Amino acid sequence: MVTSTGVAENSLVQVVTQARRDLLQVLSFVSLSPNDGLHAMEQNKELYQSLYGLVADIKESLDDDGTVSAFPNAPSGSRNKPHFQPPHASNRPSVGQPTIALDLLLHPVHPAVQHYPWGRQAPCLVSTMAGSADGTEPWAEAWYGIHPKAPSTVATVPLSDFTAAHPSLGRPTFLLKALSIAKPLSIQAHPDQELAATLHARRPDIYPDASHKPELMIAVKPTGLLCGFKTSAEIVALMDSLPAVRAALGACFAEYRQNPEVGLKQCLAHLFDHPETHEAAIAELVAVDGVAAFVHGFFGTDVGVIVAALLEHRTLQPGEAVFIPANELHCYLSGEGIEVMVSSDNVVRCGLTGKLIDTDTLLGMITGKHTGMAMVIPPPEGPFRSYKCLAPFQVLRVTLDDEFKEAAVGPTAGPLFILCLSGNVLVATPTGQSVAIQTSQCLFAGHELGLSGLTLSGAGDVFIVAGTQ
Ligand SMILES: [Zn+2]
Repeated sequence: MVTSTGVAENSLVQVVTQARRDLLQVLSFVSLSPNDGLHAMEQNKELYQSLYGLVADIKESLDDDGTVSAFPNAPSGSRNKPHFQPPHASNRPSVGQPTIALDLLLHPVHPAVQHYPWGRQAPCLVSTMAGSADGTEPWAEAWYGIHPKAPSTVATVPLSDFTAAHPSLGRPTFLLKALSIAKPLSIQAHPDQELAATLHARRPDIYPDASHKPELMIAVKPTGLLCGFKTSAEIVALMDSLPAVRAALGACFAEYRQNPEVGLKQCLAHLFDHPETHEAAIAELVAVDGVAAFVHGFFGTDVGVIVAALLEHRTLQPGEAVFIPANELHCYLSGEGIEVMVSSDNVVRCGLTGKLIDTDTLLGMITGKHTGMAMVIPPPEGPFRSYKCLAPFQVLRVTLDDEFKEAAVGPTAGPLFILCLSGNVLVATPTGQSVAIQTSQCLFAGHELGLSGLTLSGAGDVFIVAGTQ
């Protein structure tokens, strides 16, 4: 296949590289939509296979100097079909810098775990994803991404360093998380892009990122949450029987009846300015409002108990999701799920917290409008469910079973994670690499694989999350 002279090798590589670039450019406008992806795979199947086969052959010949070894523990001869080594701590090399091959497109990635106090005890979704049940600390979040607070790792290398060292992989601009929630998180909102940049410039100690943080929460177990304000009719009906709560909201509650959007912000400002009114209001509220009673059980007389009663409540069933846009108050109460967001940790809190409540920023952000929860409940299309929302990432769930044993996933525009929630699934690339993943295991694939697509087979439940920029 490869000629014996370096000049010929180089020119052949150039020709193939250019052809491949052309193909990728053609495919780059095709979205992750399963139908589009399948169509593109079908239309370009032969071209794919011949080009990738050619590139693989050439690379194999050129790289035969023995410097490439992606999976040090893989048996010899398995280079093109590496066996997945669980990326758990006990299996990771403890000394030396691992060698990671870039001719392999799929990289096992291990999450960074956050042991926030609201997390669950093991065993739970997060401890399962982390591959550990050690210690008594709660398991709150498992992060897959390159956020500097907690980058996930490829072997022992932070993914942020790995992608920085290999720019051709691209950098994931989103964070994928697993959440295990035993008690309510703070009531919070996330600034839009413009405000995030302003806040970060002004107070980087409080707002660590210059980026917005739209987020999508997909329930794995029934998940209770609050998101957005109730309708004014619902709030007025509740308050009409609660004089102490009306007093805590101040005289502006009369304004609220006339002009809910303006009045609600005035009521909240009054509420934050008069903590002496909270205890009586909460005593009255918890007797009639289940959500207030629930959060009161964890947070006592925190002002968030009153705010919680103003917010819309819902329990997501497994597979259902809610999208949370910028500036929308929300609070996860209990449950377990998969969350995807732009890679940012900017949080403006509004209660149920011991941390700062930046009331000026908060009241400047929220609209006081009832917008209704943005539910995302995708119908199944064969083995696919595509969770579409107005955010720069795409989330595809692939469920393989006796009916659908194989699925081809089309090209995406950016790097991606492939997270196995349950089962055993073989992930194959057009170049012939295939990696078996099972419950809790995750693969990172760089920009180039994102553009080329992949095939899944087996039985299991897999999330594929990709950036769109
Ligand atoms: Zn949030």
